[in-house]
Amino acid sequence: MQFIDLPAQQKQIRDKIDARIKAVLDHGKYIMGPEVKELEANLAEFCGAKHVITCSNGTDALLLPLMAKNIGAGDAVFVPSFTFVATAEVVSMLGATPVFVDVLEDTFNIDPESLKNAISFAKEQGLSPKAIIPVDLFGQAADYDALQEIAENNDLWILSDSAQGFGSVYKGQKSGNLGLATSTSFFPAKPLGCYGDGGAVFTDNDELADIIRSLRVHGKGSDKYDNVRIGMNARLDTMQAAILLEKLAIFADEIESRNRIAAKYNEELKDIFEVPYVMENTTSVWAQYTLKVSAEKRADIMASLKESGVPSVVYYPTPLHQQTAYKDYPIMPQGLPVSEKLSKQVFSLPMHPYMVQEDQDKVINALLKHKTSVAA
Ligand SMILES: *Cc1c(COP(=O)(O)O)cnc(C)c1O
Repeated sequence: MQFIDLPAQQKQIRDKIDARIKAVLDHGKYIMGPEVKELEANLAEFCGAKHVITCSNGTDALLLPLMAKNIGAGDAVFVPSFTFVATAEVVSMLGATPVFVDVLEDTFNIDPESLKNAISFAKEQGLSPKAIIPVDLFGQAADYDALQEIAENNDLWILSDSAQGFGSVYKGQKSGNLGLATSTSFFPAKPLGCYGDGGAVFTDNDELADIIRSLRVHGKGSDKYDNVRIGMNARLDTMQAAILLEKLAIFADEIESRNRIAAKYNEELKDIFEVPYVMENTTSVWAQYTLKVSAEKRADIMASLKESGVPSVVYYPTPLHQQTAYKDYPIMPQGLPVSEKLSKQVFSLPMHPYMVQEDQDKVINALLKHKTSVAA
C-alpha cells in the first residue's frame, strides 16, 4: 500500500499526459511555452482569481509576493510554528523576522488569539509588523474571517500559504481568493502536483501581479534585457505545465474522492480516535488525513500499522521554533504550547483519491486493534 499512490493516478490519464509531453517535444518551446499560458488561464477559471502567475515551486511562490511588497530587515511576518519549514524560510531569506504563532488544537491552523499576542510581542521587540502567512494545513483553509479582522486592525496584509490547500473552499470562497495573495505548490505529493517542482501565485491585485511577473524573470521591465528590479529565475517549465493541464482536468473529481475517503475514515474511526475537525461551510482537500493520540501511544500505533503493511507519517515532528535554524528567533512569553504538543501527537494515514476499499479497510482494521489501548 502506498501513502500517496501517484502511479494509480497516472494510470487514469497516462495517454493524455503522453500526448501533452509529445506536443511540447514537437513545438520545442521549453521555457514559457503555450502550455504555461493555458495552465494559468485554466487555474484562474478553476479558482476565480483574477491573476495566476505560475512559478518554479511553492517556496518561490511564497517568496515572490514578499519580495514584491519589499519585506526586509526590521519587518515582522507572522507564521504558524506547526507547518512545513518553507513558510518561515522565505521570511528569513529576505532578512525579515518570522514571528512564530501557535495553532488551534482542532484545525491545526494559526490561532487568531495567539496571533494578537504575537503582534504585541513583535512591536515590543522593535519590529515592524507587516504581514501574516496563514497556512491551509493538511488541506483545510485557515480561519480567514478572524484573520482578516486582525489584519485590518493592525494594518497587515495576508499571504495565504495554500501549498496543501489549493482546491479547498472557505465559506464559499475558493483558495486563491483569500488574502492579498495566495501561494500554492505543485510538488508531486501535493493535492495538485506535477512531475517535478512547480508552484503558483494567485492575486486579484493588478499592481502586485505585474511586479511578481517581473520578479519571476530577473526583474524584467519591457523585456528580459531591461532589468528594473532585483528578481529571480522563477518560471514554471513548459513540460510541467503540460502535465498539470491534464491533472487539473481531473482535480475536481479527485477532491470529491478525497472527501469520500475522509468521510469513511471519520465514520469508522470516530468512536475511538479524535478524527479531523473541518469548520462549517468549509471543504478540505485532505492533503493529509491526520489523527491525534497521546505521545506515549503514537510510536506503538505507528509500529503496529507498519507491521500490518500500512504506511503512516508524522507531519510535523518538530515545530519550527524548535528547529536548529530557527530556535534563536525571539518567542513571545505565552510560548507555543499547542504546536509543541501536536508535534508529539499527530500521525497521518494513507490518503489519495484512488484508494481502493480493500486498502482503506486494511488501514481501519489495523487501527481498530488499538481500541482498548487508545481508549485507556
Ligand atoms: C510543500 C509546502 C511548501 C513548499 O512547496 P515546494 O513546492 O516544496 O517549494 C510551502 N508551504 C507548505 C505548507 C507546504 O506544505
